[in-house]
Amino acid sequence: APVIVWIRRDFRLADNPALFEAARTGRAVIPVYIADETLDGLGAAPEWRLKRGLKLFSETLQRAGSRLLFRQGDALPVLRALAAQTGATAVYWNRAYRPDEIARDTKVKSDLKEIGIAAKSFSANLMFEPWRVETGSGGFYRVFTPFWKKVRQLPVPAPLPAPDRVPQPETWPESDDLQGWLSRHRMNRGAAVVAPYLMIGEQAAQDRLHLFCEERVRDYARDRDFPAKPATSGLSEPLSCGEISPRQIWHRAWGLWDQGAAGAETFLKELVWREFAYHLMYHTPHILTRNWREEWDAFPWNTDENHPHVIAWKQGRTGIPFVDAAMRELYVTGRMHNRARMIVASYLTKHLLTDWRIGRDWFGDCLTDWDPASNALGWQWSAGSGPDATPYFRVFNPDTQLQKFDPRGEYRHAWIAEDDPSPSETAISYFKAIPENWNMRAGNPYPAAVTTAKEGRERALQAYETRSF
Ligand code: FAD
Repeated sequence: APVIVWIRRDFRLADNPALFEAARTGRAVIPVYIADETLDGLGAAPEWRLKRGLKLFSETLQRAGSRLLFRQGDALPVLRALAAQTGATAVYWNRAYRPDEIARDTKVKSDLKEIGIAAKSFSANLMFEPWRVETGSGGFYRVFTPFWKKVRQLPVPAPLPAPDRVPQPETWPESDDLQGWLSRHRMNRGAAVVAPYLMIGEQAAQDRLHLFCEERVRDYARDRDFPAKPATSGLSEPLSCGEISPRQIWHRAWGLWDQGAAGAETFLKELVWREFAYHLMYHTPHILTRNWREEWDAFPWNTDENHPHVIAWKQGRTGIPFVDAAMRELYVTGRMHNRARMIVASYLTKHLLTDWRIGRDWFGDCLTDWDPASNALGWQWSAGSGPDATPYFRVFNPDTQLQKFDPRGEYRHAWIAEDDPSPSETAISYFKAIPENWNMRAGNPYPAAVTTAKEGRERALQAYETRSF
């Protein structure tokens, strides 16, 4: 009897435990992707990126002598029907960790077991299962450094190879229309502007890991904060679709650390921030939607997403060069440098006193490396409402930050065309990407600041002081 492999965000052949174990049974393997309600609410860029990744993965499976079936609807009835149709007696999948996914998977597992189908889930997309990492007193971690100290001593299983062969069923069941579904998306600016910046698929991710380890890791600790330097790995995008596994990255970088590569430890630590974000999402799922620290509910956030300051922030015309460069980088490339994410998040929540959820949602619509856990943690950390957060009174000054991390003005030049005697191609491309009704032209003068670094800081501190936290 065949084994169904339920593909979710794990678009890879290597180190894919569900696929590997299914293939190892020697029985026919039926991979299926189910577009269900957990995809509702996905932003335009992440949805588009997911579909591009899925398309490539379905082709990869085909080359490996298999196929990807596609179904739309609730997972449980879909899986039951597919099992009945094919005679499958087992369903394997790699775990997902968002609260709605956990609720779905728990129900699917128990219901399948009740009707005699073996349902097995595997650890694949995290190195440290959130319920396995405990503090000395048996609780979960709320602070990063002790979390890091704990997990770096834990064993991380070696990544699995790709299965030698994925056995096929004698006859393939019909698939719903995958190509049709893949071609529908809401990424209006997508194909023309963002597409050249994408890095899709397992092979591209492995090549990038290789490049990073060969050329960048050594100077990572020194250079990773400079947004104009190609110093970081860029692996968050393939990680978000499971085209590479954290274990594959971990073992490669750990080996370099052992050999004395200075930047490797810093890099491993960053990779563990992702694990920490998932740890927190598992233990405190409200991190996705509510102030992690309840006392922040009393903070006088602006919650109007149509406030002119918020619009200026989204459109990259706050008049603060670091913020605008970053917001334009986001719009054009679907990505933003980590330092820049911290700066724009701080500016929105502190200088513009705006609810972090407005920023979370804009990132959720624009990022091609969107990750629910890392995004929510990043926003709450920046706003001061989250775990292990920057204290609210530590307000980044976006002007001095730019001087420090872009001393030669390269980042500014890359993204801001106004007032630049010879604007860069990337800066110009922004004006081709944005909608007409934003009324922005490359030849216009650069706008004055909606709130200067100094004014914003004072206002933020005042708002903070009037609440007695
Ligand atoms: P590298 O510097 O090469 O780091 C390696 C890997 O470590 C990354 O790919 C990522 O998986 C992980 N990592 C690094 N920094 C962090 C971090 N601060 N938190 C969690 N994981 C980290 N990351 C996302 O993947 N998706 C998001 O939606 C996202 N939203 C963010 C929002 C805000 C406001 C902030 C401040 C940060 C956010 N981050 C997010 C974290 C971080 O900015 C990105 O992971 C990083 O910029 C990705 O680039 P890279 O792959 O080149 O990183």
